[in-house]
Amino acid sequence: MSTLIKPQELDTSIRDLAKQASDKIVECIQCATCSGSCPSGRRTALRTRVVVRQALLGVRDVLSSDDIWLCVTCYNCSERCPRGIEIVDVIIALRNEAVRRGFMRSKHKDVAKLFIAYGHSVPIDDARRQLRRKLGLTEVPPTTHMYPEALAEVKEILAEIGFVDLVSRQ
Ligand code: SF4
Ligand code: SF4
Repeated sequence: MSTLIKPQELDTSIRDLAKQASDKIVECIQCATCSGSCPSGRRTALRTRVVVRQALLGVRDVLSSDDIWLCVTCYNCSERCPRGIEIVDVIIALRNEAVRRGFMRSKHKDVAKLFIAYGHSVPIDDARRQLRRKLGLTEVPPTTHMYPEALAEVKEILAEIGFVDLVSRQ
């Protein structure tokens, strides 16, 4: 991250949501224990310390960056942070805001669309149907696959809470 951040690159609402997620974020001493504890960061460009810093400053780009999606929510960082910052809560808050602002990743959108259509993010396919039959199970599991009325309810709930609209706006 550049040390010179221009005022137009900042968005105070990002800082506010980070503080809501963990008010202790203001106590971050940039020790990088979080980065050093991060299994994802060993293999990717994720630098947890940088994400925390960007969130605290309200750097707009943090919402469109890949970094917030590279976290596997293992909680190592939150457990080891000497300031007790709920880092994962901050990252999840950033992800939610990123999606609200239209930065949903295409793969996530694909999964969301499947969930809206079938009530499953991984709907059953012919191979699974066959396998279930072979095992003496019903062809489809007793979920929305078996009960169309339950699927209708799931769709209604997803529409009611704005999820369908959120996905279609991406
Ligand atoms: S471990 Fe905690 S205090 Fe240290 S840089 Fe990470 S968030 Fe900040
Ligand atoms: S929770 Fe995420 S950011 Fe924290 S250590 Fe695990 S992968 Fe890294």
